[in-house]
Amino acid sequence: MQPRIPRATFAKCLSFPERNGEENMAHLRFAILTSGGDASGMNAALRGVVREAHAQGHVVMGVQRGFCGLIQGALNPLGPRDVSNILQHGGTFLRTSRCPEFATEEGRRKAVDTLRAHAVDVLIVVGGNGSLRGAMALAGLWGGQVLGLPGTIDNDLYGTDETIGYDTAVTTALDAIDKIRDTADSHERFFLVEVMGRDAGFIALQVALGGGAEEVLVPEETPDFPAMVARLRKGRQNGKTSSIVIVAEGAYPGGAQAVATELHKLGGDDYRVTVLGHIQRGGAPTARERLLATRLGAHAVRAAIAGETGKMVGLAGNRLTLVPLADAVNKKKSLDPELLALARRLSQ
Ligand code: ADP
Repeated sequence: MQPRIPRATFAKCLSFPERNGEENMAHLRFAILTSGGDASGMNAALRGVVREAHAQGHVVMGVQRGFCGLIQGALNPLGPRDVSNILQHGGTFLRTSRCPEFATEEGRRKAVDTLRAHAVDVLIVVGGNGSLRGAMALAGLWGGQVLGLPGTIDNDLYGTDETIGYDTAVTTALDAIDKIRDTADSHERFFLVEVMGRDAGFIALQVALGGGAEEVLVPEETPDFPAMVARLRKGRQNGKTSSIVIVAEGAYPGGAQAVATELHKLGGDDYRVTVLGHIQRGGAPTARERLLATRLGAHAVRAAIAGETGKMVGLAGNRLTLVPLADAVNKKKSLDPELLALARRLSQ
């Protein structure tokens, strides 16, 4: 096991990155885990962390099954070859979990014991809102550095334009919408398609725009069903042969099925319902996803080396940024009202 190097000694080495490989090079010990809902691109982020850390002369441990693995002491060294051939695969090779024990202080103390027993300096948590809350809670108990990477298809974390998994989820949903459109068109039917996103409408809006949907229901707005029925009927009168309504899973209690019931009550029309569900989570990450996850992962390592802690790495425009974890999980990221208005104008 490597001894912990005092930060001041380590900082001296930082200004001489070309010293990598010298015998007395100070090592940081990183631990990394993926937690909560899996998201395509997590593997690319893991590879980015491991390879960047090794390139700079540091050591990485991979924690199995998220916070549960941390509690159980399930961690192993990860070398550059351990992350070969994973970049292009969905899911997470470290596995993930929801871990109720970690939500207790006792569970978190066990996790801290593991981090101390393995002399970890930096913990990187890849996950969504809950996982990054867990990371914050851990930071409060442990003396080491904690950094977060936004890993969720929902794109609902503040401080980053996009989260890892979002672009792939949107791409998969769009592929499904295109197929549903063929059927809807052939049969001249109304379709409701429920997409994921928890309490946020990012996936729904992106899919509505990209798929040319006639209507979109997002949790950020209260639905006006009579107005929607009127617009759908007008569209049909104006020659539309099919109509697709995208429903974000959190837009209405009971989801798309309940929306279909409400719409049917108002106009008597039938609405076919498709719930896309978990197909939006997995699958090969898109090119954009791989690039995002790789850049975020490598940047987390560089941020840790620079002494940062309590932050999430994000992307603003094309710039990599750091945002306090508290802001990432507590501040609300808004849907772009102009995009919402555009989706509605173009769907007429
Ligand atoms: P996601 O990260 O995808 O949002 P969850 O909300 O299920 O997924 O969170 C993943 C795990 O993070 C939980 O099972 C729990 O172990 C931990 N966690 C979530 N919220 C908290 C919290 N407020 N405090 C401590 N740990 C938390």
